[in-house]
Amino acid sequence: MTQKTALITGLTGQDGSYLAELLLEQDYKVYGMVRRTSTINFERINHIQDDIEVVQGDLLDESSLTELLKSTKPDEVYNLAAQSFVQTSFQQAVLTGDTTALGVTRMLNAVRNTNPEIRYYQASSSEMFGKVMEVPQTEATPFYPRSPYGVAKVYGHWMTVNYRESYNMHASSGILFNHESPRRGLEFVTRKITNHVARIKQGLATELRLGDLHPQRDWGFAGDYVRAMWLMLQQDTADDFVISTGETHSVEEFCDLAFGHVDLAWQDYVVQDEAFMRPAEVDLLIGDCTKAKTVLGWEPKTTFTELVTMMVEADMELVARQQRNLA
Ligand code: NDP
Ligand code: GDP
Repeated sequence: MTQKTALITGLTGQDGSYLAELLLEQDYKVYGMVRRTSTINFERINHIQDDIEVVQGDLLDESSLTELLKSTKPDEVYNLAAQSFVQTSFQQAVLTGDTTALGVTRMLNAVRNTNPEIRYYQASSSEMFGKVMEVPQTEATPFYPRSPYGVAKVYGHWMTVNYRESYNMHASSGILFNHESPRRGLEFVTRKITNHVARIKQGLATELRLGDLHPQRDWGFAGDYVRAMWLMLQQDTADDFVISTGETHSVEEFCDLAFGHVDLAWQDYVVQDEAFMRPAEVDLLIGDCTKAKTVLGWEPKTTFTELVTMMVEADMELVARQQRNLA
């Protein structure tokens, strides 16, 4: 069998690192796109850097994408790059639109103009459901985004559907609910909590400042979710799929489990801070991934408790290591 080639955008992000690991296990030739920065941060991919080829490109520059597709000749493109933080999207709405929305069109154009046979994966998001129109949310649930990020993702989703329908491209959109891991960015609430739990337990912090504790999310493990991305591109027909656990938990519940894992009570440390409140909130996300189970044979493996435990333990080790390195 000939070796398949994949190009991942957003290689340096949480999902990019897990997806690269999965594709390497499947014996792919993996190219990962990174953008030019003054300081290189390959923290999430250091361990596999020798096995993948890092190439430069930017979602803001279509010609860089076209050139990359010409030189790397991928069979599959996984478009994971985005300005992905909801809170920042309120302050940088235009940049978020340029990257997270128009970036998708640039990549779809580059694929179409270079080799329309390339299979394309678009990283869509449950944030598109926003002020939810039904519970749980499926592929048929109407969108009602509540942030510039959510609006940008709706645009990217529909462009993916449109290019599939207009040009017969194998372009799939994965509507992924929140997924976390020890590699999640520190600004997201789950990792912010687990990192603070570790720092508080080891005497390096005394409080955790959070916004609204009531929002509920359907939180899964990123390592499980990248498998769904890959499965979508192995199907004969491109389509849209909700990827979720089907369970929802509040930020408060996450705190309770995370602090509880190291025998602390969150009520003693969590301080409410207006700075982390959002102009508009997504209150309740819970996904129904029946279609993914039936068509892709995918289901999540990691439970909510396992996820929280894994993240707290990883941060306990990380903080201890950082302290040893300072000593
Ligand atoms: P991260 O924020 O961890 O990673 C985002 C990646 O995009 C980084 O590699 C970043 O590079 C890159 N990037 C940002 N702007 C550009 C640009 N202009 N050109 C090229 N690369 C760029 O996100 P995740 O890994 O968590 O998520 C992956 C994708 O899935 C994103 O599109 C996200 O919106 C989407 N998604 C994520 C969910 C989640 O819960 N994690 C849920 C649903 C969807 P750099 O390192 O240089 O900043
Ligand atoms: P999102 O679902 O992509 O916005 O993921 P986040 O992890 O950023 O936020 C999940 C939920 O946690 C949102 O409803 C936030 O309003 C809520 N939240 C409460 N406090 C915080 C905080 O301090 N930081 C972040 N990022 N979110 C918070």
